[in-house]
Amino acid sequence: MSESLRKSYKYKLKPTPEQERTLELVLWRCRTLYNTALEQRITAWERRRVSVSRYQQEAELKDLRADFPEYAAIHSHVLQDVLARLDKTYQAFFRRLADGEKPGFPRFQGANRYHSFTYKEYGNGARLDNSYLVLSKIGRLAVRWSRPVEGMPKTVTVSQEADGWYVMFSCADVPAQPLLPTGHETGIDVGLKVFLITAEGDAVENPRHYRRGEKKLAKAQRRVSRRKKGSHRRRKAVGHLQRAHQTVQRQRQDFHHKTALHLLREHDTIYLEDLRVANMVRNPHLAKSISDAGWAAFRTILEAKAACAGRRVVAVPPAYTTQDCSGCGTRIPKSLSMRTHVCTSCGLVLDRDENAARNIQWAGQALRGLAGIPAGMNRESVGL
Ligand SMILES: [Zn+2]
Repeated sequence: MSESLRKSYKYKLKPTPEQERTLELVLWRCRTLYNTALEQRITAWERRRVSVSRYQQEAELKDLRADFPEYAAIHSHVLQDVLARLDKTYQAFFRRLADGEKPGFPRFQGANRYHSFTYKEYGNGARLDNSYLVLSKIGRLAVRWSRPVEGMPKTVTVSQEADGWYVMFSCADVPAQPLLPTGHETGIDVGLKVFLITAEGDAVENPRHYRRGEKKLAKAQRRVSRRKKGSHRRRKAVGHLQRAHQTVQRQRQDFHHKTALHLLREHDTIYLEDLRVANMVRNPHLAKSISDAGWAAFRTILEAKAACAGRRVVAVPPAYTTQDCSGCGTRIPKSLSMRTHVCTSCGLVLDRDENAARNIQWAGQALRGLAGIPAGMNRESVGL
């Protein structure tokens, strides 16, 4: 089975001051186009009850480029991608509406909320040449190559972050680097107190710097709101806030990567619960720890890394994983505050989350048609 692996590679750009001004202009115009296209959709709906499609809007790009030279100066794929993003936001909005949720209506993008533009086809408007990134109508940009790009670049995204400009290549056909089989499997569960716990009872703690970083973030946020709009001091505070955001985000990503790598080195298959994190976040008891943990983000990283390493991540539907006894299957109802599983039927006493992680492993193995093997004994090969 050889699947085509996709992976993204991100590098810092070293634009000249002039290139930087051009990049800012492109970003600004993309944002303007996004907001204009959104307004067009809203107006068409309000006045005539008609929906404007992405393709209708795309067809109008030609006129736009003919009438406004500043848009003619932007590669057509970049503009098409702006409309595609808007369309995606709309689709997501209607999908969530159909699911009975209460999504926020697609909103206008302020200067701080529109950060990037994309060339949807590598080689068409954006390509590499002699280790420079060549963007049509922008120029040759120097790149800080922190690691090699692997596979075939498919799309190129240029983004502005708190500390400068970055380029991201989304690549296909990235060669897999399979790890040697270990013969071990495990289930993992979101811990309330810890980041996760495995079926063997190994806990991964939430890193302390989350809290510290968040305190800094809150402080930076307050500073921004205290300062007068439009003032120089406020702009400075906003810059500070953006850097604080970036730090927290990077620390989190780094923690997720390390945790995923550690799990994948030791297990051929990892079972986890298919949580609707959004729903859990609404539960106030769980809110802090779940959103902190960024469980969904972690799962994405775990799955991507697993694909590259030839490992397996299996999601199982959540069903009584906390309540059931992992030893005998008896349902032992527990309130959220009960930290320990005590089985009145077989006498098993276990940490609440560890019991859940074991149940997740059984459920996953059953899904795959493997006999559930009690986690305590699962130190040997499961075959497959
Ligand atoms: Zn039991």
